[in-house]
Amino acid sequence: MPAPFATRPAPKLVFGPGVLRDLPACVRELGGTSVFLVSDPGLARAGYVERAHALLVAAGLPVTVFADSRENPTESDAAACAAAAHACVPAIDCLIALGGGSSLDTAKAANFLLSNGGVMHDYHGYAKAPRPFLPLIAIPTTAGTGSETQSYTLISRDGSHEKMACGDPQALPRIALLDPELTATLPRATGTLSGLDALAHALESAVCTKRNPVSALYAESAFRHLASALGRVVTGQPTADDRAAMLLGAALAGLAIENSMLGAAHASANPLTARHGIVHGHAVSLMLPTVMRHNATAPATAALYAHFATLLPTPASTAADLITWVEQTIATAALAPVDARPFDFVALADDATRQWTGKFNPVPLQLADFAALYRRALGINPTA
Ligand SMILES: [Zn+2]
Repeated sequence: MPAPFATRPAPKLVFGPGVLRDLPACVRELGGTSVFLVSDPGLARAGYVERAHALLVAAGLPVTVFADSRENPTESDAAACAAAAHACVPAIDCLIALGGGSSLDTAKAANFLLSNGGVMHDYHGYAKAPRPFLPLIAIPTTAGTGSETQSYTLISRDGSHEKMACGDPQALPRIALLDPELTATLPRATGTLSGLDALAHALESAVCTKRNPVSALYAESAFRHLASALGRVVTGQPTADDRAAMLLGAALAGLAIENSMLGAAHASANPLTARHGIVHGHAVSLMLPTVMRHNATAPATAALYAHFATLLPTPASTAADLITWVEQTIATAALAPVDARPFDFVALADDATRQWTGKFNPVPLQLADFAALYRRALGINPTA
């Protein structure tokens, strides 16, 4: 019998090449009559913001654009976005987030502040916002974070830059519009790092201690889609089908996390980002194979990995086959080398033990275990 569990709802998923054209209908479906569109300067330059704007205006929907989202949004960034939304006349009744994880997280955070006031650190944790949120439509333009299917936003504290996960059932987008045509111009490096991050989401949620029969369905489907396409994504030659598979896979991996958790690859990656500025997808890729090898020492986890090996484009049968495939995919991506000699592995390990995600790794890890993982993953002799 499975351990007791409770699922969390999914947004309505609207998937397909060209479905951006359904955006006005999605707004009306949610009762929206006046829209606030959150995006970033890059997407504005690429013309995507104007396309979405034109569709809404043509449908008779007033729209205000905020194209100032920034990477790793802070409390101040969220407050600026909320203030711009608050100033709209007529008052807005629907939010749209168009972009990567940062635009989605900024819009989600603004929704907390618009509807409940205060500052973002009031909402650090889960379900601390009693008043009703505005409906949010998420339109991801990278295939990676899965923020479009999750009820959390990641916001950095002003000053310390500590990442806060602020969640609420109402922060979940009501609709995720998944249009693979919007990822056609994704640069190779961004597509690779966000795709490897999504892969880690599928593989970590699949084996974490909060996995359950529902999260397992999402993780398996996510993995199937991502694995079918990643080989060409990391060499910079994705087809239209590959882009569709990545976008769908990333959204499904987001649902796998929403219904379970992550694990030690994320727990050990986050300190590498915080202390050494290594981009999230890169940091996760550095740690994932080593963490999987460690996790595979647990027979139940090895059995789950062996099952995932059967889902590979060239089906295999063992946990070792899966880990080798993950390693080769990351090696093919040829990520920039990291010189870890100046890194303080004990300090990193200390940070990793405090990461919430690490508490759900299938094999429990203490400080010495994390330090050993860093030494192994970053190419330094574990006995040195
Ligand atoms: Zn991640």
